[in-house]
Amino acid sequence: MSGYETSAIQSALDVYPDTTAEDQPQAVTVDPTLQLTQLLNISAYLVSVMDLDELLMRVVTQVVVALPSVQGSILWLYERRSGGLRVAASYGLPLVSTTYADLQHCQLGSGEGAPGQSLQGNEIVCIETRMHYRAIIERLNPHNRELFQQISDELPATLTSVCIPLRVGNEAIGVLELMNLGPASDGSLWQPLGRDNLSILQTFGNLVAATIKKTQLYTQTQSHRRRLDAFDAVVTAISTATDLSDLMRSVLDVVLGLVPVSSGALMLLDPAQARLTLGAYHGLPAEYVLSIQSFPVAGAGCEEVVRYGQPTLRPLLEERGEQKLLEAGLASCAYLPLLAGGTVVGVLGLYGESNLPDWVDMTTLMPLGNQVGFAIANVRLYEDSQVERRKLNTVINSIAEGVVLCDRQGQLVLANEAAMALLSLESVPFQQPLSEMTDFYGIRDTEGQPLPVEQLPMARALSGEIFYDYRVLLCGASGADTVMSFSGAPARADSGDIEGAVVIFRDITASQKLERAKDEFLAIAAHELRSPLAAVRSYADLLLRREQQRNDADARDVRGLTILSQQVTHMLRMVDNLLDVSRLDAGQLGLQIQRVNLVPLVAQVLDQQRPAAPNHELVLHPDAQELWVQCDSLRIRQVLTNLVSNAVKYSPAETQITIRLLTREVLVEKQAGEADPLVDAAANSVVREALISVSDAGSGISADQQAHLFQRYYRAGGRRTEGLGLGLYLSRQFVLMHGGTIWVESVENKGSTFYFTLPIKE
Ligand code: ADP
Repeated sequence: MSGYETSAIQSALDVYPDTTAEDQPQAVTVDPTLQLTQLLNISAYLVSVMDLDELLMRVVTQVVVALPSVQGSILWLYERRSGGLRVAASYGLPLVSTTYADLQHCQLGSGEGAPGQSLQGNEIVCIETRMHYRAIIERLNPHNRELFQQISDELPATLTSVCIPLRVGNEAIGVLELMNLGPASDGSLWQPLGRDNLSILQTFGNLVAATIKKTQLYTQTQSHRRRLDAFDAVVTAISTATDLSDLMRSVLDVVLGLVPVSSGALMLLDPAQARLTLGAYHGLPAEYVLSIQSFPVAGAGCEEVVRYGQPTLRPLLEERGEQKLLEAGLASCAYLPLLAGGTVVGVLGLYGESNLPDWVDMTTLMPLGNQVGFAIANVRLYEDSQVERRKLNTVINSIAEGVVLCDRQGQLVLANEAAMALLSLESVPFQQPLSEMTDFYGIRDTEGQPLPVEQLPMARALSGEIFYDYRVLLCGASGADTVMSFSGAPARADSGDIEGAVVIFRDITASQKLERAKDEFLAIAAHELRSPLAAVRSYADLLLRREQQRNDADARDVRGLTILSQQVTHMLRMVDNLLDVSRLDAGQLGLQIQRVNLVPLVAQVLDQQRPAAPNHELVLHPDAQELWVQCDSLRIRQVLTNLVSNAVKYSPAETQITIRLLTREVLVEKQAGEADPLVDAAANSVVREALISVSDAGSGISADQQAHLFQRYYRAGGRRTEGLGLGLYLSRQFVLMHGGTIWVESVENKGSTFYFTLPIKE
């Protein structure tokens, strides 16, 4: 205690009124200036300590070293969460170890005990008499009262103390309690705590408070930095991991570098099976590792974590299947959910040796868990999408037709092997814009004219069209033309927006040649058959008329001749159809347009059909007596004959066939991108048209079949009935040539209605 001089003797009677003057040891007071110097010296030293725990320890020890009147000290820190004081460090208290341990865990509320009073009133509180000390103990809560009674029993009866509030501005930091344990038993000089030093002590307290605050802030900054570093490390691990197991290992390494434990495991959840599988582990006993390779969530040590998505901190328990961990010397565990948007995708388990799992810094680990959870979900999604992609590639490459997929802009994103071969490509030109495709592939229509961009198969599909057998010419590898048949459709997102297109195509050059040869053969055969058949029909009709006119007409002959005449007529119609097809192909079928009243024309067609349909009722419903259109009456008669004879052919006897005739007005909408000024002029204008419908109560036509009905040689019902599958094809061509449209509406087992329109040009 060099540097201290005793200057005045303080009356011990003031301090210890319950002792007699004779008992009083010799007391000296301390020079305040020297005390101040000493305190300033240690303050200067304390400021340089950056570690919080070390600082707190230094405060309580140095103050005892510096002040001869202080032999024991406690630093109480204010806890904002509980609003009370806890012992952060203490020194020089001659307590038995259990009392000392209890003191470490004790908490004083604001206003409770001398430290609590000092904190509450923000003033120095002195306990100078034993009575005062006892009175304070009486007012403690029962739990603390017992502890402080014990402390009072163990400390000398001559104890005095001073509690200095530690504050920085308005913020409470804690209380520094300085204790004088009374005269030493060896009779050496006693220096009691003097009231005249209080202002120096308060100044010292302010310095200590500021130093603690500074170090707390520094510690906080350090822990923020560590947290940021941890995030950085996890993000690096996530971004550099190539697959799920790589990711799990790296993440576990990072986490184990953060917490003061060396054992941990990362487990992945399979929600469908409600099982967890081990993804990565470190420092776990081999037997335990074996047991957690794959295990059900139910009954697992981390079951609640999976179920509720909340972390758990607890001692390891034998009954939770953690026996092997306990045997390996581990004592506690922390389980954290790995969350991806609120959904548990896995669990992080950390295992520590110390009993209380206070080694876990939840504020850092929870957000890390979310980060890792998202990364796991992403990697899984990526892996799933890779699997799907591989499947898709296998399927697409096994298709013999060329398949290409393009994005919204028309740029290729996928092409199968057949497509590459058909298009003579070595690599997919991914960046190629639609506008360059016509030239690149030499795409032309079947007449050899270059296709405008909007007519390219891709462009048609991208515009929302679904089409089949769209034939175009392409320049093949040999330089010779190849005929490709394209089918295409838009690819739509869930919202319905078009996000790309799929186009399938095949080379039909050879089959088209065969088709041509077949058509030519049929045209020649039809041509050759027509004249003899016409002659046979004339004679059959003649013979029938003669037989009918005879008075003693033989009913069997009449019937036979009738059948002969009908069959020859039917054959002639088929031959005529074949000839019409070849004329159409050759572009030799012109229309003889006249002004025609459709009502009597339809009535005539029905009259002609009635003899061949004795068991059907043919009914005409015109909405007016006259319906004039500009048309080729021969071709429109042909269309009507086809539709009515089909209705008869494909509906059961004793049912009705209804033909309706009406005029209607339709709005012609402007097509997007239409540049033709004439079309523009007609845009959104109202036009009048004739609508003719033929309804039957037959078996109907399935949606699948409807899509092909108007194709050449297509026959929906197989070969059960006679026909070539040309009637509807020709009907459609004729209607289109008139500027009309034709379509069917049909419900299976209910019947079908065929409609066609003809524009009415005034
Ligand atoms: P064809 O009658 O000579 O076979 P079409 O071109 O007239 O040829 O008709 C094509 C196919 O459409 C027919 O084979 C038939 O299966 C189907 N079809 C046509 N009209 C009807 C109808 N009214 N009811 C049911 N099926 C029909």
